Amino acid sequence: MSTTHRSITTHYINGEFVASHGQDVMDIISPTTGQLIGQATLGDAVDAKRAIEAAKQAFASFSRTTPQGRAALLRRLHNAVNAHVDELTEAMVQEYGGVVVFAKPIVETGVNAFLAAEKGIGEIQWTEQWNTTSVTMEPVGVAGLITAWNANSLFICLKLASAVAAGCTVVLKPSEMSAIQTRVLVEAIHEAGLPKGVFNVVTGAGQTVGAELVQNPDVAKISFTGSAAVGQSIMRDGAATMKRVTLELGGKSPTVLLDDAKLDQAIPSALIMAFLNSGQACAAGTRLLVPRSRLEEVKKAIRETMPGFAVGDPADPKTAIGPMVSQKQYERVQSYIRKGIEEGAELLVGGEGHPEGLEAGFFVKPTVFVNVTNDMTIAREEIFGPVLSVISYDTDEEAVNIANDSPYGLHAAVIGADEARARRIASQLRTGRVCINNMADDPDAPWGGFKASGLGREYGKYGIEAFIEAKAILG
Ligand code: NAD
Repeated sequence: MSTTHRSITTHYINGEFVASHGQDVMDIISPTTGQLIGQATLGDAVDAKRAIEAAKQAFASFSRTTPQGRAALLRRLHNAVNAHVDELTEAMVQEYGGVVVFAKPIVETGVNAFLAAEKGIGEIQWTEQWNTTSVTMEPVGVAGLITAWNANSLFICLKLASAVAAGCTVVLKPSEMSAIQTRVLVEAIHEAGLPKGVFNVVTGAGQTVGAELVQNPDVAKISFTGSAAVGQSIMRDGAATMKRVTLELGGKSPTVLLDDAKLDQAIPSALIMAFLNSGQACAAGTRLLVPRSRLEEVKKAIRETMPGFAVGDPADPKTAIGPMVSQKQYERVQSYIRKGIEEGAELLVGGEGHPEGLEAGFFVKPTVFVNVTNDMTIAREEIFGPVLSVISYDTDEEAVNIANDSPYGLHAAVIGADEARARRIASQLRTGRVCINNMADDPDAPWGGFKASGLGREYGKYGIEAFIEAKAILG
């Protein structure tokens, strides 16, 4: 299927693509060229209610399927989506401007989430029995999945895999900025032949379709990936119907560079983590903590390494940094770069405006500030673009304090030659994950945040646990 000039006018409800009741139409703009590449008709509360009703009807039988039966479905989902990796990657590059070197592994991580959930099913104690008491792990009910735009197919696959493993039926509201990518994925999932009503999708705005999912009493659980502000509103508004919530929110992740680090490896690794997904990654290591005694060496190494991070066409495998997703996101990044300069940080690389020759799309200059203090806006707020703040420290203890002095606690990294020491520092960081020396992933390890980075965990058995609750029969 070609992803150029797509017109998306339907939702996916009860196993079929059905016409939208909502009639607002949204333009889809290529971040690379600024040109119109498609349109999506946005659903409304009526579409959301139809999808919720389909999921509710399907829950009656799907919730009673066996874990083994659902494991077989997860294998089918894996195979169906795996057959479309190239198409999904192409859609992510085209609609979102994700660089192909990052987009493909992201899509593959989503595909593998189905296998991790299949394995997770075997790790969960579904039933227990003692004396006359039996305990079963039950699916929580209809789940609303609400996702962000920056790694669309991964979020959807992760949440769907966990929900299906648990025995929940779902209504997905993807980011309105991921309509094309979502359609490619939904067509792939359709081929897996899930029972009707288990998986439903309504494209639409957060304030209409998202809000209906959050308020509707027939939705038991919201699994959300997005900003902290919307996450908080979901928790608040969901309280009225006692929603269970999983919130995967933002980050301002520290990378702690220890004084024994070898800079020829450490700096490329730190910059890869900082500019992950063109900086539009919740886990991006956007605060680099360096020993003050090595600051001048670090500055030199950054200046020398930066030319290797090519900005440009995201479809080119040599490109490391693509455009921002939208004009709005471009302007947001610009305003933070201005703020950093105003607050007195030293601009080492980059700055305001488009890189030369890339004026048409939403490209920004990858930017590194040094002499940043941890109270500056660029050290505290999530920018969601390729902007790195380098902060100096004097002792390991101070490095740990700076790393932990953040409203967020999603991800961190420690880079150093002595691995045991790096692990000791890692154990003191208040974040859901810490990587040693390089960005790493493990589909079985929990993913999620401390503090304002969210609530609950995803991935493998941890993800499934977020969609089940215990029920006891006794006496
Ligand atoms: P966002 O919060 O603006 O939107 C996320 C989703 O919420 C979208 O589908 C949107 O339509 C919907 N939404 C908006 N208002 C809503 C409402 N009132 N009720 C219900 N739904 C509503 O976030 P975004 O700009 O799409 O994504 C970027 C953010 O996501 C960043 O903060 C980033 O750190 C975070 N993120 C977190 C993770 C993680 O795993 N922790 C992963 C990726 C992105």
